[in-house]
Amino acid sequence: MKIVRERAELRGIPVSPGIVIGRAYMVDRRQVHPPERIIEPGEVEDEIGRFRAALATTRDQLEQIKQHYQDRDLGDHGYLVDVHLLMLGDRMIVQDTEKLVREGLHSADWALWQVLERIKASFDAMEDEYFRDRRTDLDHLGDRILRNLTGLQHEALSTIRAEVVVVAHDLSPMDTAQMDVRRVRGFITDLGGRTSHTAILARSLNIPAVVGLENVTQVANGGDTIVVDGLSGRVIINPTEAELAAYREKKARYQVFRRELEALAALPAVTRDGHKVRVAANIELLQEIQNLRRYGAEGIGLYRTEFLYMNRDRPPTEDEHLGTYQKVLDAVQPYPVTVRTLDIGGDKMVHAVPTPDEVNPALGLRSIRLCLKERDLFKTQLRAVLRASAAGNLRVMFPMVSGVGELNAAMEVLDQAREELQDEGVPFDPHMPVGVMIEVPSAVVIADLLAPHVDFFSIGTNDLIQYALAIDRGNEHVAYLYEPLHPAVLRMVRSVCEVAHRHGIRVAVCGEMAGDELYTLVLLGLGVDELSMHALSVPRIKRVINHASLAEARELVTGILDLETASEVHEAVDSYMRSRYPGVLDPMEEGWGA
Ligand code: PEP
Ligand code: MG
Repeated sequence: MKIVRERAELRGIPVSPGIVIGRAYMVDRRQVHPPERIIEPGEVEDEIGRFRAALATTRDQLEQIKQHYQDRDLGDHGYLVDVHLLMLGDRMIVQDTEKLVREGLHSADWALWQVLERIKASFDAMEDEYFRDRRTDLDHLGDRILRNLTGLQHEALSTIRAEVVVVAHDLSPMDTAQMDVRRVRGFITDLGGRTSHTAILARSLNIPAVVGLENVTQVANGGDTIVVDGLSGRVIINPTEAELAAYREKKARYQVFRRELEALAALPAVTRDGHKVRVAANIELLQEIQNLRRYGAEGIGLYRTEFLYMNRDRPPTEDEHLGTYQKVLDAVQPYPVTVRTLDIGGDKMVHAVPTPDEVNPALGLRSIRLCLKERDLFKTQLRAVLRASAAGNLRVMFPMVSGVGELNAAMEVLDQAREELQDEGVPFDPHMPVGVMIEVPSAVVIADLLAPHVDFFSIGTNDLIQYALAIDRGNEHVAYLYEPLHPAVLRMVRSVCEVAHRHGIRVAVCGEMAGDELYTLVLLGLGVDELSMHALSVPRIKRVINHASLAEARELVTGILDLETASEVHEAVDSYMRSRYPGVLDPMEEGWGA
């Protein structure tokens, strides 16, 4: 029978840039559903034996996957295997299944299936996101045990032979651990967002990916030709000849574009009139560090450490923190690594650190406020940061500080950590630079009071814009008011830079503004000394800096500071950039959020 390959087009979230045209490799996530089977009393012990053997095989497989993560230094995801291992020993799963076999005379497959369904139903009844995540874990684990029990092959991801686009409902770290990723040319999934496992893996491997496509697994068939546009989020299944030709051309243009940019990566970021700007990277996970040198990042300007606390039941121990920081420092040296202390609450929830249900979480018990309430948790991280500073170029900064009182309280905990380590004879760098993020408007206004206490400022424009303009940064209804070039934002950045320079300290910007070339000259002209962004954006921003002069940047800023509205400023900056630097505001990566 000939398969009719129909054309279809879907839109999702582009999470890793680039274009790929390839054959679909479907990852079948359909659940194993064993038939109901009643056994003879004489078969009970055999069934129990079979069940225990399947559990043992499952344990072996999980241990192997865990080893695989450790060998490839993908430790951040190894904890998910631990969750599966923990569930595997769960009394409910093991004892209840055996009880159903013994007392109900059900086959082991059927008994296990029933037990799993019951547990999942109780998870479904709970609203907590944590339990929804655990349900997915239980689905994946249950499927693995059932496949081992029934002799069905587990997903044959290890058998990918040709170069393919992997099409999946969702991919667990366990799936990708088994994949020969060298043959994977693209990822597309029904589920997922910018921080889903697939997105992070794709970015760290430089494989184009689009997630959140909702139903691509129903629309695509194995062997279909697929175009993945990781720049715009467009996915075409069985494209027309004309579309194929257009995409081949776009792919070639993109490759030239990236090659040209990457050739610039190794250059220092210096303006034509000799002004040096530090261009650093933002990272969330350890896996991302492998890209930093390739893209020419001069260290890490923002390490969002809250990702160390995610998808686990307990916060990381001091030694876990330390091990991770040391790996990051080793990979980046001699450049500095700026560790931002735990910044959760608001839109970043972490099960390992419970936060209260709040009517207005963006203004609630989050970030530094939470750390100052949970001082032991905070001190654990600070001790690890200090210990890591003994042998590396490490800086630490506190997020969401709204005033000197809060900063002093954070410094007090840092001092306690220092004293403890001193008493214990554990080495650390007593001069480790300490900074504060400027992302609450009150911090802008009292920047002169904060400056004498710290070694640097880092402006978090994502939150600063949200709080200054009263725009929820995640709310699509008011997204049109989220304007980085609002005159109030420009004045705040300028005033922070002036105050900082008067006190002899440097200012970085580590919000998304730093990674968009439209804003580069504006930020330099306002006095910003360092920019930190997604690593992929580094070459693009270096290119702007290398083309420009500080004098021009200042001239541009002088021309826009008196404008009244964000749209006037936007228009002025856009036309200045396009006339002075034709081609620099390249549309090639537009749509791909950094
Ligand atoms: C910011 O607010 O600009 C920032 C860099 O921090 P985050 O996006 O993690 O809140
Ligand atoms: Mg922030």
